[in-house]
Amino acid sequence: MLDKINGWIDETLANHTSERIGCECMATDFEGYYPPAFLADSFYVIVPQLPKPDFPELRQLGFGDLIDTDFNGITYKNTYFVKQGKERNLNLHFHELVHVLQWQTLGAEAFMIRYMDEILKYGYEDAPLEKMAFALEAHFMEGGAPFDIGAHVRQKI
Ligand SMILES: [Zn+2]
Repeated sequence: MLDKINGWIDETLANHTSERIGCECMATDFEGYYPPAFLADSFYVIVPQLPKPDFPELRQLGFGDLIDTDFNGITYKNTYFVKQGKERNLNLHFHELVHVLQWQTLGAEAFMIRYMDEILKYGYEDAPLEKMAFALEAHFMEGGAPFDIGAHVRQKI
């Protein structure tokens, strides 16, 4: 199953390579939070509909809600997809970049296992990887003092 999802992700990312935008364009907005080198290796793609691996096996396992929920963004490895019309929402970018760090810190396979486990166990809102992203997003949104988000994620994950 993981191989199938991983293959789907790589294919999805390959299909959007030409449309992706480098996150270094937000280096000033995120100064002190995300280092320029990290932003230079992170990307986003604006899409009308977020791509999701809609496999019957995943629905059978209990991921139907996650597949059907209309999110504003979703992260796969170092790239996240943003729903058209939401691309100016810096808080959303900030949130998805936390997920990029989580993918990077855990590695793709461990991230997928943990994220899926958490969703089934706690639900989307209470999944610890999501709670971490929402808490950091809230800190940024409220104008909290900048700190190294990467170091935070590596320490707390
Ligand atoms: Zn999230």
